[in-house]
Amino acid sequence: MYKAFLIKYSEIGIKGKNRYIFEDALVRNIEKALTRVDGEFQVTKEQGRIFVEALSDDYDYDETCDALTKVFGIAAICPTELVEDKSWDNVCKKVCEFVDRQYDDKNFTFKVMAKRSDKSYPLKSPEIGREMGAVLLKAYPEMKVDVHKPEVYITVEIRAHAYIYSKTIPGPGGMPVGSSGKAMLLLSGGIDSPVAGYMISRRGVKIDAVYFHAPPYTSDRAKKKVVDLARKISVYTGSIKLHVINFTEIQMAIYEKCPHDELTIIMRRYMMRIAEKLALESDCLGLITGESIGQVASQTMQSLRSTNEVCELPVYRPLVAFDKQDIIEISEKIDTFETSILPYEDCCTIFVAKHPVTKPNVSVIRKSETKLEDVIDEMLERAYETEEIIEIEPE
Ligand code: ATP
Ligand code: MG
Repeated sequence: MYKAFLIKYSEIGIKGKNRYIFEDALVRNIEKALTRVDGEFQVTKEQGRIFVEALSDDYDYDETCDALTKVFGIAAICPTELVEDKSWDNVCKKVCEFVDRQYDDKNFTFKVMAKRSDKSYPLKSPEIGREMGAVLLKAYPEMKVDVHKPEVYITVEIRAHAYIYSKTIPGPGGMPVGSSGKAMLLLSGGIDSPVAGYMISRRGVKIDAVYFHAPPYTSDRAKKKVVDLARKISVYTGSIKLHVINFTEIQMAIYEKCPHDELTIIMRRYMMRIAEKLALESDCLGLITGESIGQVASQTMQSLRSTNEVCELPVYRPLVAFDKQDIIEISEKIDTFETSILPYEDCCTIFVAKHPVTKPNVSVIRKSETKLEDVIDEMLERAYETEEIIEIEPE
């Protein structure tokens, strides 16, 4: 039974003097993720490594691995045997027992990797590797050494304690959430925007979200779907502050006053403006959308240009070059797909024109928007005033 996990991280290892910021964020995020797992844990940082130690025997191993595979910044998770008595004889005994427990069939090639951060230890790393190899060969003659391409690496690390591991579970990669600032995700109930939020969050960005709701044209079920999606991605991104904006009045005004074929573009421009205002108020450094070039009329390059020009903050569109199938694969992996395809109405589909412009001209769009001049400020004001905020916590 493993009592500890050694956490390997890759990219944060190259951040020089700022490295501790990344490491501390990772430790914090691991601690937070483990609060959802049965058991008590201690997370410690030690010379380029993070160790997770289970403080009792009855912790849930599978749940622990599952939680750790969702913490951005982790490159790999090694379930590790922790040996408190690190005297050489005891370590040899424990390594033999470890191999016996892990491998019923010992017909494999191996190499012992040794690391010694306790410099007072009587054997140096190369000696530990060599001697341990000999001990194992003697104990299990079926095993064979292959120093170039072994089937199994058996690692022994001598630190405050000795650690033995041979198994590596891939982590989600990326950087610890909170190490790169915050951005505002335009989250709809579709397939794309949850994936976009997940991807940007993987780069260490904390996420706030905004959903444009159009009651009674969009139902409470549609809103609940967005809340459910936010909760699903929050397992990766951490807690999300979701702003729900009532967009009905603005949408109706656009519908009444502007050319119908420009409806979606103008609507999208107002979404961006509102999202930017909310973003600036909550210290976000950018917006995130699930747009992808050419996916629909409102995402041609001309359309993207015209929705992009209304805000100053950078707009991150991580899916811009992805095919729909690639996006679906990620949404299946992060378990948002089934929720995303629930058939609830979306505010964009309700008022959608039969033949929307696919190559909007920015100056034409600006001119159409002047038709809203008399009413829009008041409407925006009301939208901000009636904003609902939902704090989403991972389950
Ligand atoms: P998605 O699958 O994310 O809904 P989509 O392919 O349906 O995307 P659109 O409906 O054109 O594309 O929306 C493009 C982007 O605009 C979305 O990815 C999302 O970021 C944002 N968006 C659209 N509708 C809303 C909404 N009701 N609330 C918040 N953001 C929205
Ligand atoms: Mg959509």
